[in-house]
Amino acid sequence: MSGVVSELTIARSNWLEYEDPATTREVVVAGVPIGGVHPVVIAGPCAVESYEQTLSAARAVAAAGGRLLRGGAFKPRTSPYSFQGLGSEGLEILRAVSRETGLGVVTEVQDPRLVEQVAETADMLQVGSRSMQNFPLLVEAGKAGRPVLLKRGFSATLDEWLCAAEYMAREGCLDIVLCERGVRRSAYWNEARSELDLEVIGPARRATPLPVIGDPSHATGDWRRVEAASLEALRAGAHGLLIEVLPPSMERADLRCDPLQGVSADTLQRIMNFARDYRVPEPQGDEAIAAGADS
Ligand code: PEP
Ligand code: MN
Repeated sequence: MSGVVSELTIARSNWLEYEDPATTREVVVAGVPIGGVHPVVIAGPCAVESYEQTLSAARAVAAAGGRLLRGGAFKPRTSPYSFQGLGSEGLEILRAVSRETGLGVVTEVQDPRLVEQVAETADMLQVGSRSMQNFPLLVEAGKAGRPVLLKRGFSATLDEWLCAAEYMAREGCLDIVLCERGVRRSAYWNEARSELDLEVIGPARRATPLPVIGDPSHATGDWRRVEAASLEALRAGAHGLLIEVLPPSMERADLRCDPLQGVSADTLQRIMNFARDYRVPEPQGDEAIAAGADS
């Protein structure tokens, strides 16, 4: 392990009880343990756009056997003119849909000043790819008393990702789930803007006992590629998946955020069926890779 990583609270070498690289520290979100033998699928719309749209997606998630709903009330958008999410109204919708369906809520926080507010609704805070090195945000998220899903920046090294997690760990938050969401590639068209970096999953698991999940939706940007990428992520050792779902009540073209990557309810069901019967394998990859040759 690199000099930087071995100093971290979250380094596996600092957790005697997790000395064996096959072991993982479970993170419990709304009663659902992430990091156990079976993968956990967190699913839902990209953004909370309305009560009906979110409820429709949430019902598809619950029907497929899911217990955790994703959906952004605050959306990081490349253009300031794009839909930015419904904000506080989106949080209210998430609470209402959670009451209606019993699903736990995973939702993004971008602004350090809003962490407390988002944490009132979220069973798990999401720190997005673009925010991975927003250090004041990480500090506030680490103080919020909620588990955090930390996405890897799309060009972040393993050391940078783990140091970002450490910003939260040193505030007392050890309930962190790492999420690999794809790296940038030289796409000619928007839908293929990223691809899963499967090779980071094993080294991340070896370097720390935190659970690691994969996000095949943002990594592929294309609903037709999400199922295959989901299985690849699980085979690479992911403890779960973060998946965007097309709300059955909506036409793809009417969605205001990431319309091309949400999977149908049927595809979600197939992925969930696969995940339910799957046993998370031991972390792959050479220990030398986990040593962080990049630091
Ligand atoms: C998301 O999950 O809604 C999202 C914006 O993802 P990322 O931060 O990985 O781009
Ligand atoms: Mn999205």
